[in-house]
Amino acid sequence: MKTFTYEKADTPEAAIRDIDTDQASFIAGGTNLLDLMKLQVETPGKLVDISRLDLASIEDSGDGGLLIGAMVRNSDLAADPRIIEKYEVLSRALLAGASGQLRNKASTGGNLLQRTRCYYFYNLASRCNKRSPGSGCDAIGGTNRILAVLGTSEHCIATHPSDMAVAMRALNATVVTLRADGDRRRIPIHNFYRLPGDTPHIETVLERGELITHIALPKPMSGRQSYRKVRDRASYAFALVSVAGIVGMEDGRIANVSLAFGGLGPMPWRDPAVEAALIGQVPNMEAFAAAADALVADAKGHGSNDFKIPLARRTLIAVLRDLTGA
Ligand SMILES: Cc1cc2nc3c(=O)[nH]c(=O)nc-3n(C[C@H](O)[C@H](O)[C@H](O)COP(=O)(O)OP(=O)(O)OC[C@H]3O[C@@H](n4cnc5c(N)ncnc54)[C@H](O)[C@@H]3O)c2cc1C
Ligand code: SF4
Repeated sequence: MKTFTYEKADTPEAAIRDIDTDQASFIAGGTNLLDLMKLQVETPGKLVDISRLDLASIEDSGDGGLLIGAMVRNSDLAADPRIIEKYEVLSRALLAGASGQLRNKASTGGNLLQRTRCYYFYNLASRCNKRSPGSGCDAIGGTNRILAVLGTSEHCIATHPSDMAVAMRALNATVVTLRADGDRRRIPIHNFYRLPGDTPHIETVLERGELITHIALPKPMSGRQSYRKVRDRASYAFALVSVAGIVGMEDGRIANVSLAFGGLGPMPWRDPAVEAALIGQVPNMEAFAAAADALVADAKGHGSNDFKIPLARRTLIAVLRDLTGA
């Protein structure tokens, strides 16, 4: 690990003030950043520790939703009675991620910003456009079993690894930030992540030194909620495919539906065509198959991850059967 300086911030304002060089990074739980620093994938010259900021509470937002502080630990968020009762999909997604010890350290803000698990990103001997822009991508034509089939580019086929973020996308969360100039922003999660295009190293719309202070959840949607994660081991593994689903029924038909997907794309994936195929339908295999076809219509495998395309279809259909009882 390279040497770095370290400062501990007492307030969000002090934290953004302390990010005073291009080489500085916030550190929250450290469960991803420290691993990357040990491998020298990330080499910040300065760490600004935000773990003691007063951003560790979950509050009612006054409009029926919740305001979650960026430093709320993943375990505490998963166990909060309001999350379990009204945002069950989020609690389930959190509990499907990492291990108990990691969830006790991992923060809400840090979870959203964790980096891809692409093997080549972690290996300095490999070519990787995300780690070293313009160097090439060894995953294309290489070992890409865990990588993306949707939203990729010729420059990067990495997936976003977070389970929590998939549930946040299904719930239409908003990321609340404090910018380096002191302004605040509210960024809907569907605008927060960027597709790789020809700049895969730029993963979100966050500006340099911008601090996530909260994640806002809107009033819960009606209907049943579920999170299904398919992975190589029963625990302690990232998703090959995951589905966060909320389905509400009226008079025997699907009245509202929200579906987000992990393991398939460079960001928590959501596709309006999938939901449109289901709205107003009597739940049955034909309707589910049409939604699954819409999901994979533009999917492209890269060899060892081809299996994800039929797996995504089957996982979505299984979730829809669970949520509708069909
Ligand atoms: C062995 C292992 C298995 C795992 N398995 C899973 C899994 O199955 N599913 C899953 O979803 N995750 C998994 N994880 C990832 C884990 O969830 C993340 O490491 C964790 O959520 C990151 O949170 P953190 O607070 O530790 O972030 P940190 O490591 O502290 O920070 C991560 C990044 O976010 C930035 N950052 C942090 N907070 C803020 C903020 N408030 N504002 C702006 N920038 C910020 C940091 O600068 C850094 O770039 C696993 C991790 C490990 C090590
Ligand atoms: S897929 Fe993306 S992260 Fe992986 S090697 Fe290629 S450029 Fe790097």
